[in-house]
Amino acid sequence: MKITHLEGIILHAPVTRGGIADSTHALTHWGAPGVAIHTDTGLVGYGFSGTHAHLESDRLIVDCIVKSYGPLLIGEDPREVLYLWEKLYKKSELLWVGRAGITHLALGAIDIALWDLKAKAAGEPLWKLLGGSAKKPVEAYNTDGGWLNWPLETVVSDCKRLVEEEGYRAVKLKVGGPSANEDLRRVEAVRRALGPDIRIMTDANGRWSLPQAIQTAGRLVDFDVAWIEEPIWFDDVAGHKRLAETIATPIALGEQLYMASQFRDFIQAGAVHYVQPDVVRLAGITEFWQVADMARCWSLPVCPHVGDMVQVHQHLCFAHAACSLLEYIPWLHDWMEEPARIVHGFYVAPEAPGAGMTPNKQALTKINRA
Ligand code: MG
Repeated sequence: MKITHLEGIILHAPVTRGGIADSTHALTHWGAPGVAIHTDTGLVGYGFSGTHAHLESDRLIVDCIVKSYGPLLIGEDPREVLYLWEKLYKKSELLWVGRAGITHLALGAIDIALWDLKAKAAGEPLWKLLGGSAKKPVEAYNTDGGWLNWPLETVVSDCKRLVEEEGYRAVKLKVGGPSANEDLRRVEAVRRALGPDIRIMTDANGRWSLPQAIQTAGRLVDFDVAWIEEPIWFDDVAGHKRLAETIATPIALGEQLYMASQFRDFIQAGAVHYVQPDVVRLAGITEFWQVADMARCWSLPVCPHVGDMVQVHQHLCFAHAACSLLEYIPWLHDWMEEPARIVHGFYVAPEAPGAGMTPNKQALTKINRA
């Protein structure tokens, strides 16, 4: 099998209720800039990154995929993924201009598309190719009921619906708003509405200073939250270490980290408890696997962030022993050939060959062919 050409694609899908916000971001669409890798067998591999649907930066990612990395892939066998990852990352001119950022997002999309092809060529879903099993339980927690721009009554009723009607046993709430007291009131109201047995995660999206985090995250213990996610700036290893030594609530982070070596630093420092790599920000499945293995060695659970809106991550969770709890956000649901499926709060293993990112016909008519 040989790669014949790459096609850049950009997909923008609307988010829930026309707009969502956390403490640092507000968006109306989720962006999926990526690639279709065509081969001489007729098989096509798809891989996407995850963005806030800013068209100009999405075009930069796609240009990097097609114009910069693309020529290095033509004629190669896409199934030789680990060799190609090294070739693109360590042996291309792009190493000089970016070991993170747009080059890494581009490499992530390519890596996913290569694994997609490898699984399609094997006639298996990716989780099976990676040695996983559909018998492995993968629980879902839902983030789409707890956005910071929604009024408290909406958040409470959405979380109740997710638990009582859809069967989730865990939900996530955004915090880090202008008032710490309001943050705590929201968490308290949802805890009161859901009762003591439902897990509630909280996420400040890097908003607080260290003293703010000590003060506000320190009070979350009163509401028995499962974790506080990204309490302070994304890259601050020393600050998270200090916080972890100070508060009782566990710390989750990783969605903004680009490299496996950054995870090593947080883990080694004791600055993280729940490890949250994202396959579309790390350079794909290849680097995700390194992080998951590393976390496993330190007895830390891996609960991935889902920049791919879970389509690839569900495969990784059915395969890797460190992963048993996976975020769920439904924004790409209507655009995928086989959208992720959850029954009674647990993922159902996908059946189609590949990595789960093949767009459906409806999406293909909407795609911006960059
Ligand atoms: Mg987060």
